[in-house]
Amino acid sequence: MKFIDEYRDPEVAATIIAEIHKTVTRPWVIMEICGGQTHAIVRNGIDQVLPKEIELVHGPGCPVCVTPLELIDKAIAIARMPDIIFTSFGDMLRVPGSEKDLFIAKSEGADVRIVYSPLEAVKIARENPEKQVVFFAVGFETTAPGNAMAVLQADREHLDNFSILASHVLVPPAINAILSSPENRVQGFLAAGHVCAVMGWEEYEPLAQKYKVPMVPTGFEPIDILEGILMVTKMLEAGTYEVQNQYKRIVHRQGNPAAQKAMFTVFEIIDRTWRGIGEIPASGLQVKDNFATFDAEKKFEVSGINTKESEKCLSGRILQGLIKPGQCPVFGNDCTPEHPLGATMVSSEGACAAYYSYQRTR
Ligand code: SF4
Repeated sequence: MKFIDEYRDPEVAATIIAEIHKTVTRPWVIMEICGGQTHAIVRNGIDQVLPKEIELVHGPGCPVCVTPLELIDKAIAIARMPDIIFTSFGDMLRVPGSEKDLFIAKSEGADVRIVYSPLEAVKIARENPEKQVVFFAVGFETTAPGNAMAVLQADREHLDNFSILASHVLVPPAINAILSSPENRVQGFLAAGHVCAVMGWEEYEPLAQKYKVPMVPTGFEPIDILEGILMVTKMLEAGTYEVQNQYKRIVHRQGNPAAQKAMFTVFEIIDRTWRGIGEIPASGLQVKDNFATFDAEKKFEVSGINTKESEKCLSGRILQGLIKPGQCPVFGNDCTPEHPLGATMVSSEGACAAYYSYQRTR
């Protein structure tokens, strides 16, 4: 299959692995930002074939994991209101709120529906004019343009019964927060290929220069990831810190201007709280005032939310690359996918879920 099989070729993989082994002379800590890459790394055993000097740590690029607890509680409260159809990608339904998750709200009678695109939610609004339809719009720069398009479509159709509960976050401010922390251990980054497909990679260059940290926009197949690691490792060993693009077949320097235009027509940049990590300046997107009728936070008054995070969950430290899932004392015992204490154990991009699925304990 073109564009798939050639990036899973075991012989090519073996050649790159050998080159990584030849290149490395010292210990390095490299972070893959994206939870999708974390799963690809663990699923393909990439972490187990690298030289012992290379430690891969896992970043905050799991949208479900970083959606603030308060917003999960708000989503549940809105879903339980009368005459609401609450729509969401399936991943969000099992994420624990302070007291329950959206699946439990559904089992208690709330009309919660899984959709596969925000435009499906617009269609539900079109077909149910007597109901208010809310779409839970979470994600990074990858999903923001599509969610913006849904708002623009609803606006064109004058649908006054459609809104989004927006929880969008941006990657570069998170990288800045990680690198500026006194606890930081990360020396090189695999940047998320799909985010860079939208935003390009120019915005990473000032970060690479400021913190002297090499960054490589990288794809998601095993060969992509191995090449990304090799490129970062070569720069680390040479003492250079540029942004080099591994994912050339998808990512261009300026990204996708049409997608950026849709995104910044509907959204504006704000400070945002990341679950487990805290507030990161200028790291989120909110619906602009001129689209306020499509903003579920403004449309539905939700009060009396007292968030209560699990005291045992260390996902914030995992998402910053400070520890690995197996180092959480409750990993695999008190916390499992059936009884998750944190979002990182249930999300399909969560690091704890990856370690649990593929039986990594370290
Ligand atoms: S294992 Fe569970 S409790 Fe520990 S960090 Fe992961 S999600 Fe949180």
